[in-house]
Amino acid sequence: MVYIPSKKIGGNGFANAAEASIQLCTVSSCHFVCDHLSTLFGKGVSFVESVLVGQQSSLYEQALVVFKNAAYVMGLDPEIAKVLEKPERSLTVRFPVVMDDGRVEVFTGYRCQHSTVLGPAKGGVRYHPDVTLDEVETLAFWMTWKCSLMGLPYGGGKGGVRVDTTKLSQREFERLSRRFFYEIADIVGQFRDIPAPDVRTNSQVMAWYVDTYNKVVRHFEPGVVTGKPVELGGSYGRDEATGRGLAVATAQACEYLGLDISKSTVAVQGFGNVGYFSAKILQQEYGARIVAVSASTAALYNPDGIDVDELMEYKVQNNGSLVGYPKAKRIGHEELLQLDVDILVPAALENAITVQNADNVKAKVIAEGANGPVTPEADRILLSKGTLVIPDILANGGGVTVSYFEWVQNVQCFQWELQEVRDRLTKVMKKAFAEAIKAKEKYKTDLRTAAYIVAIGRVANALKLKGIYP
Ligand code: NAD
Repeated sequence: MVYIPSKKIGGNGFANAAEASIQLCTVSSCHFVCDHLSTLFGKGVSFVESVLVGQQSSLYEQALVVFKNAAYVMGLDPEIAKVLEKPERSLTVRFPVVMDDGRVEVFTGYRCQHSTVLGPAKGGVRYHPDVTLDEVETLAFWMTWKCSLMGLPYGGGKGGVRVDTTKLSQREFERLSRRFFYEIADIVGQFRDIPAPDVRTNSQVMAWYVDTYNKVVRHFEPGVVTGKPVELGGSYGRDEATGRGLAVATAQACEYLGLDISKSTVAVQGFGNVGYFSAKILQQEYGARIVAVSASTAALYNPDGIDVDELMEYKVQNNGSLVGYPKAKRIGHEELLQLDVDILVPAALENAITVQNADNVKAKVIAEGANGPVTPEADRILLSKGTLVIPDILANGGGVTVSYFEWVQNVQCFQWELQEVRDRLTKVMKKAFAEAIKAKEKYKTDLRTAAYIVAIGRVANALKLKGIYP
């Protein structure tokens, strides 16, 4: 499976985005497609060729498909594209941690700064046994576009440590976190690169990070990380921010489609920070019916609705597992994604909706709570079915927006009230959604491409104004 533009374009542009849109094709001759793409993309074809010569594409290559498509539709200067396609800096660290039984284990961690054109790099740190540099670089790449789309003065960054946190004691977890942050201390800072929580990291980890950093640099700098506990300079409303932002964007999408959100049904994949708060706010503030919820332990379904807070209470009391929840029946993980619901919120990990299952997805709206839950191939299938996909860089942009609010409060040594945070977040989400819709209509394209056009446009303009140093 590869992408080729649907029609050949003439001159130095294209009539509209429909003409320029990329379609999913099965090809028997890679050489033919390479030639075709060479004509169309000129110098920008090299990555597509690598996808075509038969290797399975990496996550970064998949992400580049989306970037290149948007760049093509908006007519981005290829010299600018060249600068923005690759990360500015990636650091790999290998560091020892003394385990509780006295053994020393060596862990691998990464910090990538994809772009610092708009400001310091910004993005979370993920702990997962399968984290790779490719994944971290891709997540950093997405952060660049997310921060730009949300109108924040940040570039994109991301970090990760290859570790299974379920196998660590609390003391080992702390030692690993502190040592990792010590290892990357040279390249972070409140005006350089500002990490935050992501999968399996939380406000406690941020507390260890900020304390470690302050010891290393020997001054107080709370703005070096966001997502901290409120007692250490965290912002009210950060925990719920990604879910709240997603709920606002979903409500905007329903309004755009003429769907009554208070009569809609919702399935949520992932019941961690993003999935829980998305479900809670959609249920409690927008009146949507949450009919299905899953976590890695189990997927649950109740057509009459699942009380999200009750389920969370059950999860906490049940050692983090959803298994055995009495008020919903157990279904398969795949089944949840294919339920006949109005809204689907994939809020777990990447690649949940792929070419294998996209055809069976029935939701009218997909709000990407996770980063990259829909592969580019699946995206095309969904587009052809008329599904409105709210892309991750928009749907989950609420988290980094409140991280930005936290950073602003830290820099100003000031604290905002919760309501102020919520009001400002709602305003930012609505503005970003409106800008993406405006681009969608201007370029006659899908919402993902439109969101990227807005985001890339801002970074490209800033880069043009700065010029290339020296
Ligand atoms: P989390 O660790 O709090 O929650 C992840 C949830 O997904 C858990 O409930 C886990 O059990 C579940 N899960 C994992 N694999 C699953 C599977 N195959 N099927 C069903 N459930 C599964 O993480 P989070 O912070 O909620 O992040 C989730 C996603 O959202 C990630 O892609 C992350 O990058 C993205 N994201 C998070 C934030 C944030 O503020 N936390 C912001 C933007 C994007």
